Amino acid sequence: MAAYVAPVRDMRFVLDHVIGYEDLTKLPGYAEAGGDFVATILEEAGKFTAEVLGPLRRSADAEGARIENGQVRTAKGFAEAYRQYVEGGWNGISLDPAYGGQGLPYIFGVILNEMIASANTAFGLCPMLNHGATEALLAHGSDELKATYLPKLISGEWTGTMNLTEPQAGTDVGALRTKAERQADGTYLISGQKIFITYGDHDMTDNIIHLVLARLPDAPAGTKGISLFLVPKFLVNKDGSLGARNDLRPVSLEHKLGIHASPTCVMSYGDNGRCVGYLIGEENKGMSCMFTMMNLARLGVGMQGLGVAELAYQQALGYARERVQGKPIGASDAKAPILEHPDVRRMLLTIKASVEAVRAIGYLNAKAIDLAHHAADREERWWNQGLADLLTPLSKAYGSDVGVEAASLAIQVHGGMGFIEETGVAQTLRDVRITPIYEGTNGVQAMDLIGRKLGQDAGEHWQALFNRIEAFVNDLPPDGDLGAIADGVGHALAALRRATAWMMAEREQSLRAAAAGATPYLRLFAMTVGAYLLGLGAKRATAMLANGEGDAAYLQARVVVARFYVEQLLPPAVALVEPIVKGDALLYALSVEQLAV
Ligand SMILES: Cc1cc2nc3c(=O)[nH]c(=O)nc-3n(C[C@H](O)[C@H](O)[C@H](O)COP(=O)(O)OP(=O)(O)OC[C@H]3O[C@@H](n4cnc5c(N)ncnc54)[C@H](O)[C@@H]3O)c2cc1C
Repeated sequence: MAAYVAPVRDMRFVLDHVIGYEDLTKLPGYAEAGGDFVATILEEAGKFTAEVLGPLRRSADAEGARIENGQVRTAKGFAEAYRQYVEGGWNGISLDPAYGGQGLPYIFGVILNEMIASANTAFGLCPMLNHGATEALLAHGSDELKATYLPKLISGEWTGTMNLTEPQAGTDVGALRTKAERQADGTYLISGQKIFITYGDHDMTDNIIHLVLARLPDAPAGTKGISLFLVPKFLVNKDGSLGARNDLRPVSLEHKLGIHASPTCVMSYGDNGRCVGYLIGEENKGMSCMFTMMNLARLGVGMQGLGVAELAYQQALGYARERVQGKPIGASDAKAPILEHPDVRRMLLTIKASVEAVRAIGYLNAKAIDLAHHAADREERWWNQGLADLLTPLSKAYGSDVGVEAASLAIQVHGGMGFIEETGVAQTLRDVRITPIYEGTNGVQAMDLIGRKLGQDAGEHWQALFNRIEAFVNDLPPDGDLGAIADGVGHALAALRRATAWMMAEREQSLRAAAAGATPYLRLFAMTVGAYLLGLGAKRATAMLANGEGDAAYLQARVVVARFYVEQLLPPAVALVEPIVKGDALLYALSVEQLAV
């Protein structure tokens, strides 16, 4: 079984030659974060994830998390690995230096998340949720809450969680019933039960800070009546030391398809009427606070999909090089490894090209977040915020779908051994299967894209992005590899423009008809952007080859992979325009009774 190796060179290629990372080094405070510094960080992160987290992946999956005497115990080695993670300063890598973070560009946090997801997906959920909680507190917490909690959340000494889901309130968050009652001292008493809470309890830190959505007695119905509370496992004294245990507990752990080592808890708050919570932001404004957390977590989940897809590729390639079956077509005698068979090649290249496309989309998304926060120019901040908003549902849904597709293909490459746990590739699929579901299902991402993002700022952001892609296509030579890429991306853009025009009109006429095509529309959108970005990389690689710069074999591979994506993977996405514009008629042509016959 191939051990994970961080694809540092591929990451560097996207940073340097596709998304223009150097723009970030011109921002205030980021001048040092260029050149050798990037190489050092990526190499050290690669080493840590591969050497410390990777070796625990299989054993932690087999052991899982358990609950003993009301306390969750994580798998052997997790607490020690977490200690090393904190001591290495990894948790605060791109978090606010005012509270002890290292203040590096946000994109480093995204890359680290990808590496952790490859090496050990279940472990990675803990820091991912912690970062969401941290960002929400940074953006919306009072100075006092920030001073008390942020330093420890940022160092990783404490972890944070996100508590939205209840049995009747999943996608429909507005249906939640957890209660919050005002107290004379300004705190609130929280009571209710949450389900599916990731790392709701564990033994890796001595405090856990829960961010809990709850409803005040006089709150309006639905999402307009939800408030956000900070609810610590242990109350914190004025001097920062830990005080009494708060009235909350993990009730049980879910038995899951994958990510066994990530404890997914049913949490109970206020069994004894004494669960203390502190308001974050304003009463009844909890949803907008939570969105800060969710948007970043959505990119995080997309990058989890990417990380697992990368692992799937390494596993599939490793097996395909070793496994000998049959003769290559046209060969007379000698048997050969299965990667000589065209179908196996197709599977390998499908995973590889998809991974590279998702990586480019995700890193561009992260760069836009950095610029949205730190660019000096107001207009530039605004434009990048819009771009980040537009790209986030693409990163989340396409990234996680590619994760599942890649893991499934990797099993196929392994043949029967892929279905046997021993190879470890079955775990890859089990672990990644949750990513299209949590942080807003991919169906919800597609609705977000057509419902909110297309209309945002009168569509200026997608129009500008489409124009940028068009200018790129027009600038490419008419023949050769780049000509083929121009042709394919041009067709995809034409289909995307047509589907978008239909969506914009249909949203006004019949939202249900537009919603019926939302998922294929997201796929067409994401793959067009992916093809454009791979094309940018191919163009750059071609120029470098012509100048005799860099490693020729590596650069030639970038051109071939981009062309494979455009010629072999993109056409089915382009064809989605027809089903998209058909609307919802057939979906509702059968009555509910007829669905059962
Ligand atoms: C392992 C795991 C970890 C999790 N971690 C956390 C956590 O840390 N914190 C937390 O709060 N939650 C967590 N969740 C919950 C997770 O976010 C929800 O499961 C998810 O949001 C979907 O909600 P649901 O399960 O109720 O599905 P439902 O909402 O019942 O959805 C079922 C299906 O219907 C579709 N659907 C529902 N409503 C709509 C709609 N309006 N439009 C279109 N389609 C719709 C969905 O896309 C889906 O396909 C976790 C879940 C799991 C399994």
